[in-house]
Amino acid sequence: MIVMGVESSCDETGVGIVEWTPGEGDGPGEVTLLADEVASSVDEHARFGGVVPEIASRAHLEAIVPAMQRAREAAGIDKPDAIAVTIGPGLAGALLVGVAAAKAYSLAWDVPLYAMNHLGGHVAVDTLEHGPMPECVALLVSGGHTHLLHVTDLADPIVELGTTVDDAAGEAFDKVARLLDLGFPGGPELDKAAAQGDPHAIEFPRGMTGPRDARYDFSFSGVKTAVARYVEKCRRDGVDVPVADIAASFQEAVADVLTLKAVRACTDLGVDTLVLGGGATANSRIRSLAQERCAAAGITLRVPKPRLCTDNGVMIATLGAHVIAGGAQPSPLTVATDPGLSVQVSQER
Ligand code: ATP
Ligand code: MG
Ligand code: FE
Repeated sequence: MIVMGVESSCDETGVGIVEWTPGEGDGPGEVTLLADEVASSVDEHARFGGVVPEIASRAHLEAIVPAMQRAREAAGIDKPDAIAVTIGPGLAGALLVGVAAAKAYSLAWDVPLYAMNHLGGHVAVDTLEHGPMPECVALLVSGGHTHLLHVTDLADPIVELGTTVDDAAGEAFDKVARLLDLGFPGGPELDKAAAQGDPHAIEFPRGMTGPRDARYDFSFSGVKTAVARYVEKCRRDGVDVPVADIAASFQEAVADVLTLKAVRACTDLGVDTLVLGGGATANSRIRSLAQERCAAAGITLRVPKPRLCTDNGVMIATLGAHVIAGGAQPSPLTVATDPGLSVQVSQER
């Protein structure tokens, strides 16, 4: 079975194609990558310092049909056996473009359409590189989300353990990078600057780690404000802003809280696999600290390669393959986008 995945929830227009091979007997099936086309409008948002929804929607509109064409050529197919599409969560106008395209092609090619949850895609994509997914905890960190999830089976509804009560982790990276004049998207620049700094130079607050705080929720607005205050004080006092030390100390605080809670969730639930996903997991300190803490706790860490951690169509095609193989029914062509889609609902709509 060949599945095309369509993703347009934020600023990446992604069309991916995978092939699903059923396992022998009750054995797990296998997914193989056939095509991975991504067009990003990230550069168009740079001068605004953040993703502008209207610009993202317009860029999707221009990119989607060519991306579908390129993906089919790369995979060497005329049409897939099924189309999986992200219906949420994400930007309303952006989602509409991918869903409208997926519906149009589903109708024109007479192939079934399956509505997918974007967050499930970030977890499922890891099976491409690392094989069948056991029960796991997933930590998703990107510009738009920060979630701690409990996944029993990729074809079943996912349980959300916790999420951010304010900024997403990647968003905090971008905002702090802007405070430090490091450009947009700031995450990678901040990571680079941090490499020259001392992660223990400044003790920035670790949000929601107190005894009365929710065990698995996150908060990053406090650490962001603390950085802003620190920079203001330097400027007021007329001293140079220690950019590298601030970047390293901020990065350490964020990585500390994310990995602390992720490993805690694994230990609490008795789950021995942690999966990372989302663009901000490209961060060197989030990766190394997750690796250290997982090793110490006897947890297997699975991290997709960076290209598959950021938004793409392959992750939706892969989730689609798992969900279809799990026996899901196709979605009607009337299926609606849902910008606030909860991860807790079934992948089926
Ligand atoms: P969504 O939230 O819908 O998944 P997005 O476009 O916000 O989409 P991604 O494209 O997955 O997120 O990732 C981009 C985010 O990851 C940005 O916030 C960026 O700053 C952050 N990021 C990328 N590389 C790094 C890094 N090395 N360190 C920290 N943050 C990073
Ligand atoms: Mg993006
Ligand atoms: Fe995403």
